[in-house]
Amino acid sequence: MTLRPLCGIVLHPATHTLSPVIHAAAYHALALDAMFAAFDVPPAELADAVRGMRALGVTQLCVSLPHKVSVLALADRVSEEARAIGAANTLTLRGRELVADNTDWVGVVRTLEPLGPWAGKRATVLGAGGAARAVVFALHRLGAEVRIVNRTRTRAEKLAADLGGEVGALDEPFDLLVNATSVGMSPDAALTPAPSTALRPGSTVFDTVYRPLETRLLREARERGCRVQDGLDMLVHQAVEQIRIWSGKRADPALLRRAALEELAKR
Ligand code: NAP
Repeated sequence: MTLRPLCGIVLHPATHTLSPVIHAAAYHALALDAMFAAFDVPPAELADAVRGMRALGVTQLCVSLPHKVSVLALADRVSEEARAIGAANTLTLRGRELVADNTDWVGVVRTLEPLGPWAGKRATVLGAGGAARAVVFALHRLGAEVRIVNRTRTRAEKLAADLGGEVGALDEPFDLLVNATSVGMSPDAALTPAPSTALRPGSTVFDTVYRPLETRLLREARERGCRVQDGLDMLVHQAVEQIRIWSGKRADPALLRRAALEELAKR
């Protein structure tokens, strides 16, 4: 009997994930005979879930909130990038070895690269959580000068100390503004992490939030004459990289974005 690879995502709560739709679309397009399941795993059960993954031979688990940091301690090997970022969003079984990777930063690089070049450009990052850490890591790889602005300043200082960059303020000039906070995400779509007066005409504004696709931040940025980028491409590109890690095959991001948009339209 040939066993079908089983992949999935662990998260808690498991209300809104687009990953099953994105991964299923990729498997279909790449003719990968694999299954993908979403597992609602509370923090206290994560270690058991990962032990189960190993015992059952689950090929890959995508790792979402709130597990991205705690999963590092459960892997046999952690990639250099995940170690530097301090979080992993992917666990892959390679033989008997469980490897933790971070593909969020790859999603950021692939989203921003076509809008660059960013070398020497001023980037302001809003936030200092897991997403912000991946964004800051990616911006350094792109050669940008990074400034971090966060509600809790001590977290911004920690991020800057860990990954590089300066702690700054929103009224300092930037070429690129990245929202890596959860502010503006549905159901709080009326909120914005930056007043419209702070949005500099001609700059690029990238919101990692993708629900709604056009956040208040992006709408106001567009109205102010900024170039705007939504968060869905980041999600799609990080998934493309996850699938490449276990299968060696590269899915078409445009196709996965269409699948995600169709799913979002249903919700
Ligand atoms: P997290 O670790 O919980 O960090 C949340 C961040 O948002 C912190 O910096 C927090 O500031 C800030 N924040 C929360 N509420 C705020 C408020 N009312 N006012 C000001 N700042 C506030 O979460 P995360 O993992 O970094 O995720 C953040 C967001 O990134 C998610 O909501 C998601 O939309 C997005 N994301 C997108 C992708 C993608 O593929 N597109 C991937 C991952 C994440 P404090 O430090 O002061 O608490």
